[in-house]
Amino acid sequence: MVLAAERTPAIRRTRRLRRTTALRSLVRETRLDPRSFVLPVFIDANTAAEAPIASMPGQSRWPVSAAGSLAERAMEAGVGGLLVFGLPDEKDDEGRAAADPLGPVAGALRAMRAAAPEAVLIADVCLCEYTTHGHCGVLRNGSVDNDATLPLLADAAVAYAEAGADIVAPSDMMDGRVAAIRRALDERGLDTAIVSYAAKFASSFYGPFRDAADCAPQFGDRAGYQMDPANGREALLECAIDLEEGADALMVKPAGPYLDVIAAARARFDVPIAAYQVSGEYAALQAAAARGWLDLRRSALESLTSIARAGADITITYFALEAATWLRE
Ligand SMILES: [Zn+2]
Repeated sequence: MVLAAERTPAIRRTRRLRRTTALRSLVRETRLDPRSFVLPVFIDANTAAEAPIASMPGQSRWPVSAAGSLAERAMEAGVGGLLVFGLPDEKDDEGRAAADPLGPVAGALRAMRAAAPEAVLIADVCLCEYTTHGHCGVLRNGSVDNDATLPLLADAAVAYAEAGADIVAPSDMMDGRVAAIRRALDERGLDTAIVSYAAKFASSFYGPFRDAADCAPQFGDRAGYQMDPANGREALLECAIDLEEGADALMVKPAGPYLDVIAAARARFDVPIAAYQVSGEYAALQAAAARGWLDLRRSALESLTSIARAGADITITYFALEAATWLRE
């Protein structure tokens, strides 16, 4: 045994508080809470039954008829809310089906609201699932026309608000969309909040989502409107602009590769900060776990803890239901 007198006196001993499980739990700085998770769901007008998504194990496209029970399941798990994406039965050049009050998103919102009145329902607002070309706005001379896209986004946001969304979340990255949507909602007396995808990067981690939502661009890419992954300061400018335009909360997407942006947004702005752990982050952990290279539960919870530690108040994650179960155990 080493006597106290023999120990080096000058060392600062941080290990004392790591000695037992109970001590570590007492001094833990970040605790995950399922109520801060949001589950993304894909509602597909073209399917009559659950259709599993190959590149996102455990995730599926669902018919509108399943929306109510999805919301019930999320509420039973203690998850904070659902984020709804839609796949329409018909696409056109201008993505007009996005604003269809009988489309998959509006239909799902009504069913979810009826089945789970307390659920926080968030509707993604974009055109890419609804356009034949897969871009997030309307095209003119081969590129996305920012200002011509704004009224179409506003129409979609109004349709979702009227169908029962608590929050609309524009993900298109057009300039001026938050102001256009806020104005359209206000004109109709709709008190729906806006969580803007303020810092949405042109990321390679969206690959599996594009399979899921059938929205890959048919030509070119989205670098002309989504942000350059190299730009952190510009992300804060995007956040500031969206706040000025009337956003109630801000989102950073993806989450894991952009923890510095989450932390910087948290430090600078006093509104809630959301982070979207995207399909590629989810698929990477699932793929490694399937090969036995990672422990899924530990790596998923560690990734979610890191996003919360960086400063996210809300985490949108495909792990929402599973992680809620893990956290209860
Ligand atoms: Zn889009």
